[in-house]
Amino acid sequence: MSVDVELGQIFTGPETELDSCANLDQLAGVVKACNRCKLRAGCTQVVFGDGVPSPLMLIGEGPGADEDRLGRPFVGKAGQLLDRILEVSGFDRARNCYIANVVKCRPPGNRIPEPVERLACWPNLRAQIRIIRPKIVVLLGATALQALVHPQARITRSRGQWVEKEGIWFMPTYHPAALLRDPNLKKPCWEDFKNVVRKYRELVDPNHVCEYVK
Ligand code: URA
Repeated sequence: MSVDVELGQIFTGPETELDSCANLDQLAGVVKACNRCKLRAGCTQVVFGDGVPSPLMLIGEGPGADEDRLGRPFVGKAGQLLDRILEVSGFDRARNCYIANVVKCRPPGNRIPEPVERLACWPNLRAQIRIIRPKIVVLLGATALQALVHPQARITRSRGQWVEKEGIWFMPTYHPAALLRDPNLKKPCWEDFKNVVRKYRELVDPNHVCEYVK
């Protein structure tokens, strides 16, 4: 498949063959056979996504060593922190959110995925978003922000500010791995998740339970 969709175009731009998949299971089957960039040759398995199709979706950068081994996104230390943030916000990947990454194959040594790799994987993520049709997307870190909003965007400048695009509300925030490196980032990240809870109540469920947001 040629990659002729521009990065960040979700419902606009040409359909790709992935868009003919009727559901996530069917799409996962196709994505797991993807060989459009060199990352597939260096990883153990394609990490497609996790959770249930929901109005809330979270997008990270790419699988790390634990994710590559287990085949699920965000299952290492950063993932455990993310699960905790989700829990206190009233979300849970088994119940009411979906988690995916910009690239589905682990970059060697956990390096940042290159622009050509992000672009090659974009039809996969785009098709996921088109099936899930989230109302709110949390962008975890600069790679997700740049793929979905603007290639030159900076997470330090953009975090905490809603971006509405193609009918979806995007909230950029720090990547949980950044919170582990610098605990000072935890407070602003938590403020961003409180805003996500407020938006979720506004757009999805006015009775959404989160004891920290009145
Ligand atoms: N970091 C990411 O961006 N994604 C994962 O799945 C795990 C760690």
